[in-house]
Amino acid sequence: MSIAPSDTDVLLVVDVQKDFCPDGRLAVPRGDEVVPIVNRLAAKFTNVVLTQDWHPPGHLSFASSHPGKQPFQTIEVAYGPQVLWPDHCVQYTPGAEFREDLHIAHAALVIRKGFRRAIDSYSTFYENDRATPTGLAGYLRERGLRRVFLAGLAFDFCVRYSAEDAHREGFEAIVIEDACRGIDVDGSVAATRRRLAELGVRCVGAAEIT
Ligand SMILES: [Zn+2]
Repeated sequence: MSIAPSDTDVLLVVDVQKDFCPDGRLAVPRGDEVVPIVNRLAAKFTNVVLTQDWHPPGHLSFASSHPGKQPFQTIEVAYGPQVLWPDHCVQYTPGAEFREDLHIAHAALVIRKGFRRAIDSYSTFYENDRATPTGLAGYLRERGLRRVFLAGLAFDFCVRYSAEDAHREGFEAIVIEDACRGIDVDGSVAATRRRLAELGVRCVGAAEIT
């Protein structure tokens, strides 16, 4: 099947930042491979939004903020379970920057997330307390954008939760799976595919976007 993006479609490019790529502080395996794919995809969309993980030093999601804890352990915080990560995407550090080979000059908006010290944010729509909106849904509605295509890092965290929330907010969500890479903590890639299928969120290949 081929899909031709229209003026009411948007490409949401999730967290294509240095720290999520090889040599970064929270490297997603082969994360750098999405960059040329996303660049080619973006050229097919009139509307593109970028997201940027943007944490203050000492962020709650960092294992280093919890004495005795290690990265990839899960703890309970005020809003529920929270996976602990290596320090990553710290504000104004090189790792928080977008990849230099990401070339999307017409991206109209950058949504920053995770900048509140005590709340992590996987979804580009809501922070992990599920109550604090980023404002993206309002932006998309005001712009008349109805169908959200997702690409970027990581498939099983920020792309997954953004797709779920896009669906929950009444947008049609479509994940371009080969334009994503996953971290895969405790089977999280398989769990993501199951959850998206349950919701009826389609996963397509980049070659289907024409
Ligand atoms: Zn983060």
